[in-house]
Amino acid sequence: MLLCSRRGDLVPAPILSFPSCNLPEKLLQNLEVAGFEMPTPVQMQAIPSALIGQNLLVSAETGSGKSGSFLVPIVSYCAKFNADKPHGERKPLAMVLTPTRELCIQVEEQAKLLGKGLPFKTALVVGGDAMAGQLYRIQQGISLIVGTPGRLIDLLAKHDIELDSVSILVLDEVDSMLERGFHEQVMQIFRALSQPQVLMYSATIPKDVQKMANSMVKDLTIIAVGKPNKPTGAVKQVVIWVDSKQKKQKLFDILTSKQHFKPPVVVFVSSRIGADLLSEAIGITTGIKAVSIHGEKSMKERREILKSFLVGEVLVIVATGVLGRGIDLLHVKQVIVFDMPNSIKEYVHQIGRASRLGEEGSAMVFVNEENKNLFRDLVQILKSSGAAVPRELANSRYTFGSSTNKGEKKRKYGF
Ligand code: AMP
Repeated sequence: MLLCSRRGDLVPAPILSFPSCNLPEKLLQNLEVAGFEMPTPVQMQAIPSALIGQNLLVSAETGSGKSGSFLVPIVSYCAKFNADKPHGERKPLAMVLTPTRELCIQVEEQAKLLGKGLPFKTALVVGGDAMAGQLYRIQQGISLIVGTPGRLIDLLAKHDIELDSVSILVLDEVDSMLERGFHEQVMQIFRALSQPQVLMYSATIPKDVQKMANSMVKDLTIIAVGKPNKPTGAVKQVVIWVDSKQKKQKLFDILTSKQHFKPPVVVFVSSRIGADLLSEAIGITTGIKAVSIHGEKSMKERREILKSFLVGEVLVIVATGVLGRGIDLLHVKQVIVFDMPNSIKEYVHQIGRASRLGEEGSAMVFVNEENKNLFRDLVQILKSSGAAVPRELANSRYTFGSSTNKGEKKRKYGF
């Protein structure tokens, strides 16, 4: 059961169906074709608020239908605005910024699906594709720009793009954008617009995100769906204490076990080279087709890999953090965290990949002494979600008492 809460002035009642919110008929048809029978909890709350122009800060669990909750109002607004406009007079009306190319591609694809047959076209502005093509596309009278902050700034710096009509700005996975150092670029883009409605989305809402939101807009409606900062309850976490040298063998054991292997599977590792080597080793040792995906692969390669994974040609993807956030791996039921990420928040995102829309999934997580920085937070998360804590983790001195950093300082400096 998802918990929902909202704060803000004049919060409209949640919608229980799409037809109840005065959307263009064709958009309703597109929602039906996409299989969106009824709104998800975040959509129930965010869509009516967004439709009446409120600024939102939305915290929702991974896979909760966040993209739909901003795309439905965007498509609706653009379709209505453009209804009588000849094609040549159409200008960008909305902009979605996300931290990664993959997420941009996914958002744009969903936007196209929802806007099919309507006066609504999209442009993708991300690194890896030629800028000239992207510029040309924008000049063709599109309504929505979906992009990463870095590439957009590049484009805006080099070319004169008319953004005065952009009335809706979405910042998706905003905490990740801040972590990646995009704060200034996002603010630059915001300042280039004429006070748009701002819709900010994030699985977790740390203080810096709230601060940024408050610096952009005065009236902010806050919507929280699920339990922020906690992993989705639908993912069963199984933490396995395993020495670094034994991790590969342990992985092969899982992948070759009828009982434990639940393909398609995503294996998360910490480095690009690690992803390449491990995917090769899986193929050689187990005979299971595995591929790696990470930031060094071209966008075309990444698209092809994701496609072969989604159609079932490939059963195992070995990925770096690039896949951890927001990427829609619809039917993935199992995630293996081979290398623990650097932060517990990233961990929550990674295991969240094993569940879409609250469907049950499982995460097998390899842990050893090298991850001691995360022990305390990890144990808390495991306990709060009712998962077993391995004996070594439960008994570790890093799990209790003062934080690891303090302990290390003490040893190093003697105070
Ligand atoms: P998101 O959290 O936006 O990444 O969405 C997760 C998945 O849920 C995507 O595959 C969406 O296509 C799907 N989805 C979003 N909204 C709905 C809905 N109302 N009904 C059914 N599926 C949905």
